[in-house]
Amino acid sequence: MSLSLALMFVSFILLCATTLASDPDPVQDYCLPNLKSGTIRTPHHTILPCRNSSEAITNDFVFSGMKAPGNFTNMGLAAISVNPTIFPGINTLGMSFVRADLKVGGINPPHFHPRATEIAYIVKGSVYSGFVDSTNRVFARVIEQGEVMVFPRGLVHFQMNVGKKPATVFGSFNSQNPGMQKIPAAIFGSGINDKLLEKAFGLSPKQIAMMRRRFDK
Ligand code: MN
Repeated sequence: MSLSLALMFVSFILLCATTLASDPDPVQDYCLPNLKSGTIRTPHHTILPCRNSSEAITNDFVFSGMKAPGNFTNMGLAAISVNPTIFPGINTLGMSFVRADLKVGGINPPHFHPRATEIAYIVKGSVYSGFVDSTNRVFARVIEQGEVMVFPRGLVHFQMNVGKKPATVFGSFNSQNPGMQKIPAAIFGSGINDKLLEKAFGLSPKQIAMMRRRFDK
């Protein structure tokens, strides 16, 4: 194979990888999912078949479940996120949304979204927010009401309410299914071999057991 042909081949593979990493472009105005007919799974996407568009009503494009905070975790975080099952109108549109409320001192623990960049808007409060890039540089500061911060796709990010009042944050994602992995649970709540965790983190078996109890789902 000539060098230029090899380069073309590599570019093509990279292009495919990039394309498949994003939500596909919609081919119709909207696609309200038909939840009764089950899902179609392909290697890269879960497809919800569309309902007949003549059945669409305005309320399919309105979500009213974010007027108030959701249920708080023991970390002082309440998050309500939409998906096509509870908000049919967003199906196939390549976006989704979250409302997060933080009690005073509450945290959104380090996590990442494998399929989406997130933009977080501080509706009220003062929130220490940041992310870590792939060279482990941290970009973080306190952001105030009215400010937004972007968390690039796949990078670990976090938030903590450092104000004296509860905080509310709205986040948008450029995928209808961003995915979410919380670092503590992914490491200590997933069943990775204890020996490996002991070596990776320099912890004793007792300390590993403690972390497991804390982050087990
Ligand atoms: Mn996030």
